Amino acid sequence: MMRQTDPTAEGEAGGRLRAATHADGPLLVLGAAGTGKSELLARRLAALAAGGTPPDRMLVIGARRATARRLRDRCEALLEGPYEELWVGDWDEIGERLLREHAEAAGLDPFFDVLGRAERLAVLLDRFDSLPLRRHEIRGNPAGLLARLLGRIDTLKSERIGPTTLAELAQRQAEEATDEAGHETARRELEFAELYTAHDQILAESGSLDRGDVFLALDCMLVERPDVRAAITARFAQVMVDELEESTPAERALLEGLAGDSPSQVLVLEASGEGDERGADKTDPGAGPATSRFTRERSPMALEAWYRDLHPNGDVVTLERRFRDPKLRFWKCANERAQAQATAREVEHLLAGGTGADDICVLLADPSHEGGAIAAAMEERGIPFHLAGPTALFQRAEVRDAIAWLRVLADPDDSAAAARALTRPPVELRPGDLARLTTIARRRKLDMVAGCEAALDSPQFQPEARERIQTFLKLYGTAAAAMEERRADVFVRRLIEAVGLRRQRLFAAQPEVAERLLGLSRLAELATAWARREPHGSTRGFVAYLAAVAEAGVEPTGGEEPPAPGAVVGLALGAVKGLGFDHVFALGLEGDAEWGRIGWPAREEMVLSRVTGAEAARPARAYAEALAASPDAVEEEHDEELFGPAEGLHATYRTLREQVLEASWRAGRELSEPRLDTAIDVNRAIARYLELLKLAALAQRPGEEATGDAIEAVNGLLRQVATPEQQAELDASSLDAYLLDSESERGRRLQLIAAREEPSLEAFLPRRGDGRLSLSASDLTLYLTCPLKYKFARVFGIPQEPTINQRFGILMHNVLERFHKEPPEEGDELRALNRLFEAGWRRGGFGDSDDEMQYRDRGREALRLYWERERLSDSEPVWLERKFDFKVADHHVRGRVDRVDRLIDGAFELIDYKTGERKTEEELDSDLQLALYRLAAREAWDIEAAYASYDYVLDAEKIPTPTRPDDAERVERTVVRVGEGVLSQDFEPRPSPGVCSWCDYRLVCPAAES
Ligand code: SF4
Repeated sequence: MMRQTDPTAEGEAGGRLRAATHADGPLLVLGAAGTGKSELLARRLAALAAGGTPPDRMLVIGARRATARRLRDRCEALLEGPYEELWVGDWDEIGERLLREHAEAAGLDPFFDVLGRAERLAVLLDRFDSLPLRRHEIRGNPAGLLARLLGRIDTLKSERIGPTTLAELAQRQAEEATDEAGHETARRELEFAELYTAHDQILAESGSLDRGDVFLALDCMLVERPDVRAAITARFAQVMVDELEESTPAERALLEGLAGDSPSQVLVLEASGEGDERGADKTDPGAGPATSRFTRERSPMALEAWYRDLHPNGDVVTLERRFRDPKLRFWKCANERAQAQATAREVEHLLAGGTGADDICVLLADPSHEGGAIAAAMEERGIPFHLAGPTALFQRAEVRDAIAWLRVLADPDDSAAAARALTRPPVELRPGDLARLTTIARRRKLDMVAGCEAALDSPQFQPEARERIQTFLKLYGTAAAAMEERRADVFVRRLIEAVGLRRQRLFAAQPEVAERLLGLSRLAELATAWARREPHGSTRGFVAYLAAVAEAGVEPTGGEEPPAPGAVVGLALGAVKGLGFDHVFALGLEGDAEWGRIGWPAREEMVLSRVTGAEAARPARAYAEALAASPDAVEEEHDEELFGPAEGLHATYRTLREQVLEASWRAGRELSEPRLDTAIDVNRAIARYLELLKLAALAQRPGEEATGDAIEAVNGLLRQVATPEQQAELDASSLDAYLLDSESERGRRLQLIAAREEPSLEAFLPRRGDGRLSLSASDLTLYLTCPLKYKFARVFGIPQEPTINQRFGILMHNVLERFHKEPPEEGDELRALNRLFEAGWRRGGFGDSDDEMQYRDRGREALRLYWERERLSDSEPVWLERKFDFKVADHHVRGRVDRVDRLIDGAFELIDYKTGERKTEEELDSDLQLALYRLAAREAWDIEAAYASYDYVLDAEKIPTPTRPDDAERVERTVVRVGEGVLSQDFEPRPSPGVCSWCDYRLVCPAAES
């Protein structure tokens, strides 16, 4: 019979002691976050070892790699006597170890490989054309789709649902379906079950398993081989599990299998008494209906019931005293940047006060999307920051440089990769020269590498630019030859050395540099692991694998590398549970992110922060509850700092320090291989160093001397040592102006510093013959979405291959235009539409992959529905693809309207065909495109359009947009704003998850990295 401990009778200390020394029989330890449950397990292991149980006869399982590592560290620290080996690890590690030891009994090849999601993604991508995926929308992104489907397979396996069971469930769903939508869902589910089967077969053929298979195989083995089960239970006198609430049904099946023979299981479960829904979020988004059981089974109440079923006579101890009682602070921030700046400022003060960087943690709902702002704010203050998460590796500048080189070597048509390789060290082609280069490549229809060769003969390039292009071509030529000859891992290491990506190793004593080096070595390790798996694979194969993994945001095998010592860590909120830091900043506590899962990670102070912006989200429940429970707390308000860190001198010193190192490295390279502008670069490097001296002097000046006077005094002394050339560099610098300027707009500091190096792009702005700026409707949208994206696309003109979505959109536009221009005989309309579509399909170079076939089916169906609507329509198309060009303020605005209809009452309607995503209500409300078309119709064609609509051809629906009295004024305001931005070359990036994830320039964009 189970005995419920009464903590009031036995006392907290008694319960804790009893749990720690509990020798035999099952025990469930319940306690809220921060009550020392994990520590209790480590103490228990030490106490039992002191009592004579050999440490290697105790199996201790933690939920995740990081928490298991901490548990292991604590066990090692507490153990006094010698031992052979410890069996302390996370579920994956322990499961694999057990299965490997008994591989033969499990009917497996003893050298089986356990593949992570990234490797399986690569394997499936290799066989993509043979996978059953007709009913799953690919939309030109096979890696993204497969990554989602692999996530679902993993969830199903963790629930012990195999492909056969899933197919049976789908079959039942099909039988019960009452409408076409229900049948289609069931058919898609059946197709997914087929994919699941194919996935498992592919793994089996290569002698590999995935993580889910490990536990399914262990489960089968324990049932079918009682002798092995007995051997395992005889070996482990004790089994201890931390964070039971994080385990999956498949993992818990191991405990079930061992329970009968080895009842000494001590299981730790977080139960805060805050309700059962906690922790119900581990399922992958996109998991189907069959996966909902998992969420139910993870609630504390369900897990306690599971324990009672497993061990009817088991004991239970409840821990109530919380050891962590951090001070709580509440922040209300104007926007994400304000929040990031406030965090970086606080972290800087903590570090200055002696707190170790490793004792500080920043929590984010999704580091891959929200990490950029905080990484940038930390960088501004020179704080070493390690952003953890599956895609963090691919957000690092050095890693992205290496990937850019790999991509352009594998495919010279990859213009974004070429642009990055050309503009980053060691080539550092100036922006204006990049724009000239892309113009040559586009005009002569060359890839960027061939464009470089052509540029060498062009008089447009100065000798310095030509030398830089030659440097690129030399490196490219050498690397391209080696790429064909060497194994991927050897090649990647050589490439890293050859393009000097490791050049900062000289300054590796600095934690932030050590962080970067870690990223590069991680990339080299990935290549090694890949080459081991694919001994006959080519480097191109590795590049394809790397690009797909980075694209799909999948964690590569081996998982996250530990941060370099001395770095503040940024974690996803789901990854912090079970860890402890002195100071924790929980950011973005608005909306419904799963904040209930973070446990109690702070020892001294925890900042709970939420953003209230234009898109003000309500505070997360966790925030509101904590605030309500802290009656004395006040919400601290934080606004964006317009001028970056207030402590200008120190922050500028750190920024400049980086520049001095870069400048001296560049000048040193040129001294070793002199060229025409070597002297300029050497003098520039010395001038930067003198500026650094100036800042150091100003920062340390005693007394209250005014900044202007102090600058003048230091300048006077520097004039005595600088040569005339160096003095000219110092005079041209805007550093003094910056230091004196306390009222400045956002980003001015960086702009001023950058402006010293970056020449104007004036000559590349899109102008008409009369010198006026020329903007199209899509240019306006592009600039408003992200000015930097506009710069890449329109100023640099980096060529991009159209995606399958874009090619399909062009085809549908062409078909509809031709159809209306040359109307077919009555009764032949639908056939004519199909003929036009088929002819365009063939000429458009579409193939017969599943993705393309899906587009074909959708296109044909869309045309059928289009004709259904058209047949019943009273209106008549009067113009098709009609162009306009008119002046707004001082700029030209151009474009074309897909179709203009005259309605039965004589009014005009402007129609824009759309084959992509639908606009939201909010977007329609502030729509610019159709408002611009209305104005264009009036100004350029002299007609008043009463209506304007988007025709969503694939959905067979036409959505009108409302006319507003201030439309013309709004369009004019926007054109003026964009025109001013372009003319003043304000190309500040505007990163946002929704836009950046589809941006073709992610690789070359500095804002997309951390
Ligand atoms: S990745 Fe994002 S920030 Fe960078 S250019 Fe593209 S849209 Fe702009």
